[in-house]
Amino acid sequence: MKITLLVPMYNEEESLPLFWEETQTVLQTLPDAQFEYAFVNDGSTDGTLAQLKELAQKNPNVKVISLARNFGKEAALTAGLLEAAKADAVIVLDADLQDPPSLIPAFVEKFKQGFDVVYGQRESRRKDSFLKRFTARGFYKFHNAIADRPLPEDAGDCRLLSRRAARAVLQLPERERFMKGLFNWVGFKTAAVPFAREARRAGETKWNYWRLWNFALEGLTASSTLPLRLWTYFGFAVSAFAFVYALWVAVQKIVYGNPVSGYASLMVAILFFSGIQLISLGVIGEYLGRVFMEVKQRPLYVVDEKINC
Ligand code: UDP
Ligand code: MG
Repeated sequence: MKITLLVPMYNEEESLPLFWEETQTVLQTLPDAQFEYAFVNDGSTDGTLAQLKELAQKNPNVKVISLARNFGKEAALTAGLLEAAKADAVIVLDADLQDPPSLIPAFVEKFKQGFDVVYGQRESRRKDSFLKRFTARGFYKFHNAIADRPLPEDAGDCRLLSRRAARAVLQLPERERFMKGLFNWVGFKTAAVPFAREARRAGETKWNYWRLWNFALEGLTASSTLPLRLWTYFGFAVSAFAFVYALWVAVQKIVYGNPVSGYASLMVAILFFSGIQLISLGVIGEYLGRVFMEVKQRPLYVVDEKINC
């Protein structure tokens, strides 16, 4: 049985030695499987690539795919999958040891039992900040309320995919790749392994809140068109209200002869509905932007060099 560890790396020179050591220790406890590493260097600007090259030179089971610049984790994972899907299974791990390598034996065990997808489910986010926990929870709740296919809550990218599951993910042609959603979309027999997510061991996160917000938008627009449709219903509701209100105004004027007052109410109504219109345009724009990205048909990433592949 051949299993590839797929690890995206963006400026992880501090984490890499720790990651290597820990995974090596864990892999020694699994002698009946043959392990390989597929490291994707996502345009690191520090010593990550040099370190990876050194590792690859000493260890023929270390494959390195170096991208021409930073394309983002999603693209890096896709680049790595293409290489890693040659093995019987692929395990996706973060380099910072937040997805503990000690999960590997549990994943492999489930794989042997016949599961195609095994994902790590965070038992607690105690190590995350309050804001991160709150926003993550909000995202999953909202996403699952509107999405065609709900995401399992608190499942990261950390997971095992059988070869056919990995190939299925690679068949999805979209350029805007919300990997969690894609992994989830393909289906197959799926198991969850609970784990406690550690704090990042070294270096720092590359995801600030702005990036996370955009990531969340990507996830939402990728898995649901409900935000688009919502405005139709809202429009109907507003029109119905306007019709009733118009009748009321007419009756006031014609039957009772009351003067129709209202700078304040007019101003509020105009501003409110201008705002609503701009928001709905923005939502359409969001989707249009995605469509634009798709029709450009650009490659997801550019490979600079490959070692041991
Ligand atoms: N990563 C990447 N490209 C990027 C950002 C991140 O390949 O543009 C990798 C990073 O090296 C790490 C993983 O994705 O292995 C997770 O990143 P990070 O720990 O910064 O995210 P967090 O755990 O905070 O969500
Ligand atoms: Mg991390």
